[in-house]
Amino acid sequence: MNILEAIKKGNNKLKENGIKSYKLDSEILMSKVFNKNRIDVILNFDTNLSIEQIELFNNLIEERKKRKPIAYLLGKKEFWKYEFDITEDVLIPRPDTEIIVEQALIFTKNKSRLKVLDIGVGSGCILLSILKERKGFYGTGIDIYKKTLDICKSNIKKLDLNYRVKLFKSDVDNFNYGKYDLIISNPPYIEKIKLKYLEKDVYDYEPISALDGGVDGLLELKNVIKNSSKLIKKGGKLILEIAFNQRDKVKKILIENGYYINDVIKDFAKNNRCIISTKI
Ligand code: GLN
Repeated sequence: MNILEAIKKGNNKLKENGIKSYKLDSEILMSKVFNKNRIDVILNFDTNLSIEQIELFNNLIEERKKRKPIAYLLGKKEFWKYEFDITEDVLIPRPDTEIIVEQALIFTKNKSRLKVLDIGVGSGCILLSILKERKGFYGTGIDIYKKTLDICKSNIKKLDLNYRVKLFKSDVDNFNYGKYDLIISNPPYIEKIKLKYLEKDVYDYEPISALDGGVDGLLELKNVIKNSSKLIKKGGKLILEIAFNQRDKVKKILIENGYYINDVIKDFAKNNRCIISTKI
């Protein structure tokens, strides 16, 4: 069987299971079999597959049929300018989250040697992307899971940032190390009751602990804001990702905790997604 024939079979299986991006997905999964990019696969449609390659491809298609996200099947995801290693222990980096990076860069223009803290660092995609853009910045990432920190560590190594990042296994309540010029966080903010309505790809595979924001979705945001007060320098910036319907509530919590609201930025779907504030 050649690549084209296998891909066609893969297409049919995914299509039958309601996966809309079946063609793209099959081609990407085939590229994983060859460890090449998608274009190389397309340019070599008539290459014959070995038994092992067919088996590997079929296994990937079976997993995708069950809705396992492509990013987890590949073990990587593009974010900002880099490719991040990921496993099911971390949330898949979302394009909307690049807004935090963008805003952090805008609000730290012309600054050097800032200390940056990422609360719930996950894969490290936000923190490490900022550090790559600002050579004089130093980063600290905290997360409550060792497995998550291990993934972050591998991304730190891959991006050659060892000498500028420290990681701690801690929740924010018990973290008391240092004062920061910039704090960023994409905490879990989805209302508990709404979790089960997320796409199957998300609900069945992504870490619920990175999505579950408690009954009102604000539990962890409140916690991050409250605890940031002890970790942020006066005049320091706090940049948070929020849900589409949390702008006013989060603004209120920030103001109650001594923050001035600089801006609220919408995502690609025109939903409020990122809030920038300053400790006063
Ligand atoms: N944006 C993510 C989603 O909708 C949620 C991320 C989060 O809770 N921080 O799947």
